Order: sequence, then structure tokens, then C-alpha cells
Amino acid sequence: MSPETSAPSRSLLQRMLDLLLTNEPRQRMSLVTTGLACLLMVFCILAMKLVAAAGLADEELVHWWALASGACVFASFALIRSGFTRHWHDPAFTHIQITYAITSNAAAYVIAGHARGIVPPILAVIMMFGVFGLGPAQIKALLAYGLVAFCIAGAVVQWWGPPDTTTPGALAAVYLLIVVMVLVTSTALTLRAHAVRERLQAKKRELSRAVEQIRDLATRDELTGLPNRRYMLEVMRIEGLRAGRSGQPLLMAQLDLDFFKAVNDTYGHGAGDQVLQCFARTVLACVRNTDILARWGGEEFVLLMADTSAEDGQRLLERVRATVADTPVQLAPGVIINLTISIGAAQLNRDETPLRLLQRTDEALYSAKRQGRNSVVWAE
Ligand code: GH3
Ligand code: MG
Ligand code: MG
Repeated sequence: MSPETSAPSRSLLQRMLDLLLTNEPRQRMSLVTTGLACLLMVFCILAMKLVAAAGLADEELVHWWALASGACVFASFALIRSGFTRHWHDPAFTHIQITYAITSNAAAYVIAGHARGIVPPILAVIMMFGVFGLGPAQIKALLAYGLVAFCIAGAVVQWWGPPDTTTPGALAAVYLLIVVMVLVTSTALTLRAHAVRERLQAKKRELSRAVEQIRDLATRDELTGLPNRRYMLEVMRIEGLRAGRSGQPLLMAQLDLDFFKAVNDTYGHGAGDQVLQCFARTVLACVRNTDILARWGGEEFVLLMADTSAEDGQRLLERVRATVADTPVQLAPGVIINLTISIGAAQLNRDETPLRLLQRTDEALYSAKRQGRNSVVWAE
């Protein structure tokens, strides 16, 4: 088949599968599992019909057994496909499906006559379905139910079955022994698979937490909790592109603490850190939540104001400067210092890169320092 013809036919198959199994991931997973159960049931019905045709089982009993068993599994598929079970904890109601599959299997054991040797392998496959989403308690409950169901089936065959299908005592014991072995080993394997799955899921959770932590470490400044330089560079790039496209004004400001070295020299590095944290909180309380404040390095900060007019930006930065100057920082009981900042600000020009804009705010900041500090200077 040429690539031109294979692509559309594949998409048609895809569309048909989507129609049958839906696009909702949990519902689709449940339908695939139940679809497998339907397939298994079709094979079992076929096998039982052959057993009946060979004269080893009562045709009418097999007919009613096939009708009841088939109806249950296909009705389950229809119920899941209808979306009715979509919000259930387990949309495939796996333990109910396995319970009636065990019941159907035990009934087949009763009516299959001398062909009842076909039952144990099918029982093993049924128990394997427990791997899909059952908890250890449910898996063990199914084992208990299976044992009870087959004890009853064994008793029915031995004492109430038609004499011509009654299995000799020793053989009946062998059959039941195999059934018990299948139930116990498949339960043990399912529990093992469940434990492995749990461990993998715990590892996955641990990994996503670690990734989250690494992402945080890579984008945040540890001391102030503000976005760091690396993160801000990316934000500046994106906001620069956005402003270029939308034509909305983009403002940038560099904020630098005045005579900060003196704070370190007088009160120690720890006190300096405390001042930086307090400063970050004070500025954050002044700006809008759409403005982005980042620690650029040392005692220098960058503020990015998207979609902000020059007039609004001027008012905002003046408020930041005044608030910092009017907010004394308490370093220890009785130790209070006053802090001021110098700000250099600029608006992004047409065709200007954010890095060039940053350079202009740096020059404006330098002017603010030269003019005596505690002031806001706007670049040309
Ligand atoms: P100016 O008014 O000209 O800005 O003077 P300044 O003293 O603020 O500037 P200068 O660049 O001379 O000193 C900045 C000081 O900031 C020097 C450095 O030790 C201090 N610093 C940088 N990062 C940190 C930090 O994370 N914690 C503390 N405590 N101090 C820091
Ligand atoms: Mg400084
Ligand atoms: Mg500085």
C-alpha cells in the first residue's frame, strides 16, 4: 500500500476506534480492558458450544450459561461506554466484573462434564485482570470468593450432578487441587504486580517533586524568594516580544539600595540579608501582581511592568521609592535603620531589545546615584 493511501485508511481506523473506545483516557482504558474480557468470553462461549456439540455437556444448559455470561460482560462494556461509570473510583468496576467472571467460570465447571479440565486455565486469565487497578484487600477477597465458589461447584458436581458427567473421586480432587493452585498463585502474582506498581508510582511522585524543587531552585533567589536573574532574562525576552506584537508599552526599572555596603560593615552580613528580605517584601506590597520583581544580583533588583503607561509607571516608582524611604527596618530590638533606594527606569522603544532597554535603565540608575541617591531617574 502506498503512503498516500495508507494515511487516510489509518485515520479512518483511528476514528472508528475513537468512536468505540472514546477519547477520554480513563474511560478508554476501562473499555480496552473490558473489551479484552469480551474477547475472552467469546472464546469461552465458543469452547463450551464445541463441548456441547461433542456431547460432553447438556446443550440447553450451555446455551443458558452462554446467554447469561455473554450478556453480563457485554452489558458491562455498554455501561462503561455510556459514560455512566466515568466518575467512579474504578470506571471498569473491575472487582465486580471479576466476581461474575469467577461465578460464570464455576458454573462452566459444573456443566462442562468431563471437559471441565478447560476451566482452570481460563480462571488463571480471569484472575490476571485483577492487575488492573485492584487493591490488595480486593484481590484477597476475590481469592476467598473463588475458593468458596469452586467448593460449591465441586460439591454440586459430586453430589447433585447427573451420574454420566460425575467425575471419579480422585480425578475430581485433582481438578479442585488445580483450581485452588491457580487461584492462590494468580492471587500471589497479582499482589506482587500491585506492589511493584505501587513502588513505581511512589518513585514517579518522588521524581516529580524533585523536578519541581529543581525548577524552583533554578528560577528563584534563595534569600528573597523572588525570581532570579535567569528567570527574569526569559521573562524579559517573552515580554519584549509580546510588547513588540501588541504595541503596548513595556517599562523596566533597576532598583539599587543606597549605601548598602555600610549596612553590612556596621551591622554584619546577617543584618544585610535581613534588610534585603525586608526590602523585597516592601516593594512587592507596592507593585501590582502583574509586575515582576526579580533579584538581579547583590543589592540590585529589576522591576518589569507590562502594559503600563509611562505616567502610571512614574507614579508607581515614585510610590516605591517613598515607601522604602518611609519604612524603617528593625534589625533587632532597638536597632532600627532607614533605607533609601535609587531607581533608573526606561520604556521599551520600537525595535529595541530588552537587553538594550536594561542598559538604558542602568545608565539612568547611575545618574540617580550621581544626583544624590533616593531618587527616580528616567532614561531619555
Ligand atoms: P551605592 O549607594 O553606590 O549603591 O553603594 P552600595 O554600598 O550600596 O554599593 P556597593 O556596590 O559598594 O556595595 C554593595 C554591597 O552589597 C557589597 C556587597 O557585600 C553587598 N551584598 C551583595 N550581595 C549581598 C547579599 O546577598 N547579602 C548581603 N548581606 N550583602 C550583599
Ligand atoms: Mg547599592
Ligand atoms: Mg549595586
